[in-house]
Amino acid sequence: MNANCAVISEPQTPPGIVGLPIDRQELPPYRLASRVAHQDSTAIRVREALIGDPKFVVIAGPCSVEDEHQLLSTAGIVKDSGANILRGGAFKPRSSPYSFQGLEEEGLRLLDKARKVSGLPIVTEVMDSSDIPLVESYADILQVGTRNSQNFSLLKNLGKARKPVLLKRGLMTTVDEFLMSAEYILASGNSEVILCERGIRTFETSTRNTLDLSAVLVLKERTHLPVIVDPSHAVGISRYVSPLAKAALAVGADGIMVEVHCDPEKALCDGDQSLGPEDFRHLMNDLRIMAPLFNREV
Ligand code: PEP
Ligand code: MN
Repeated sequence: MNANCAVISEPQTPPGIVGLPIDRQELPPYRLASRVAHQDSTAIRVREALIGDPKFVVIAGPCSVEDEHQLLSTAGIVKDSGANILRGGAFKPRSSPYSFQGLEEEGLRLLDKARKVSGLPIVTEVMDSSDIPLVESYADILQVGTRNSQNFSLLKNLGKARKPVLLKRGLMTTVDEFLMSAEYILASGNSEVILCERGIRTFETSTRNTLDLSAVLVLKERTHLPVIVDPSHAVGISRYVSPLAKAALAVGADGIMVEVHCDPEKALCDGDQSLGPEDFRHLMNDLRIMAPLFNREV
């Protein structure tokens, strides 16, 4: 055999997923999340916002709720530029126990105020099962962070919550493991799960994580659940966020979640990756121009 033509064995595509008509495929272990059993894409309504085709949803806001001025002013900025949902952490998973840990219930109260003032639904993280009743009483969407993506007892308990769950991909989870995490929530009784690709840990150190945009394509094929992209935590550098947000639209994601701060240099958390007001306005303008090319509405 010609050395140039040596056969290199490629990783095998799992059987029953790609290549066969959907009605002849075996049901994968994530049976409720799978497109085999549920062929139509799921769209989730949260107050005025729709997450799922044909909408390209934009979730924006600060990494953490810091104080009333910061939150209300950032909420006004993202609302005026056209965001659909406000994000903001009140319970923060920080690598160091000495870093700002979030305002907890006071942060939730401020989010409630920001919702009333801006009219935007809110998404915020729940880190622990014991906090679910409290966070659920304020939030419109409950976020599971990357570090808890395989905290199966938390996922099971969120299955009993009556609010949609935004589930982030774990730092080291494969696409199928990610879908199994979603399955825990679905199998426990909550049918409203939004998947979020937020970068995975690889050998590459030039960006905070490695944004796996191919995962969006694979997920859209394997599951009916909405898939969004968080370029902020994926890349960690604000000037790279908008190009990747636009790439998410181009690759077929159902939306983005981006960190925006009224004054990124003063942010208590993740200022380096937060867009300022002008950058976010430009991003929204670009997305509005691009969206029709991809049959989406922004
Ligand atoms: C966040 O979105 O606030 C966050 C902490 O993200 P991740 O869990 O993806 O690191
Ligand atoms: Mn953050």
